[in-house]
Amino acid sequence: MYEGPVQDLIDELGKLPGVGPKSAQRIAFHLLGVEPPELDRLQAVLQKIREGVRFCAQCGTVADGDLCRICADPRRDRSMICVVEEPKDVPAIERTREFRGRYHVLGGALDPLSGVGPEQLRIRELLTRIGSQDDGVDVTEVIIATDPNTEGEATATYLVRMLRDFPGLTVTRLASGLPMGGDLEFADELTLGRAFSGRRTL
Ligand SMILES: [Zn+2]
Repeated sequence: MYEGPVQDLIDELGKLPGVGPKSAQRIAFHLLGVEPPELDRLQAVLQKIREGVRFCAQCGTVADGDLCRICADPRRDRSMICVVEEPKDVPAIERTREFRGRYHVLGGALDPLSGVGPEQLRIRELLTRIGSQDDGVDVTEVIIATDPNTEGEATATYLVRMLRDFPGLTVTRLASGLPMGGDLEFADELTLGRAFSGRRTL
């Protein structure tokens, strides 16, 4: 236990996910030693987040402008949409280099016990995207890449039901092999890449 702002800093850092008391202390003392401009940059970034982060008008991931970099990229395949739960799943799949289409971020997974139903997720936006031709190109494949856990599976099942009636649309799900109960973002690149290339039609 320390006195004053140092302990406050340790306490705040310790509230972050994945940061235990020892790490919190190490980061705090690291910050005490950095040059003032570096602290200014950190403070400025936190302030920007405080003012509000923007989300891509199309896919819903974090963006710097109206559209995220992937949606704005004309080289990405507009006929494929990969559905994920959270923005953090996008870089995880990008790292596998298996996917050249675009994404759709749901904003979570179905979890009735916690009050998360279809209306709380960006499912209607997904259906609109598919139904209205993304930029004039028919969407021919939707890859469901929700997390390999109970909520993720329930969400996948629900999506399959909703997407069944779109003519000419193939719905696929990542192959098994991902650690069950886990988070997509924690799967290693190789495993996730294999799950991607071995995806199966539902
Ligand atoms: Zn986007």
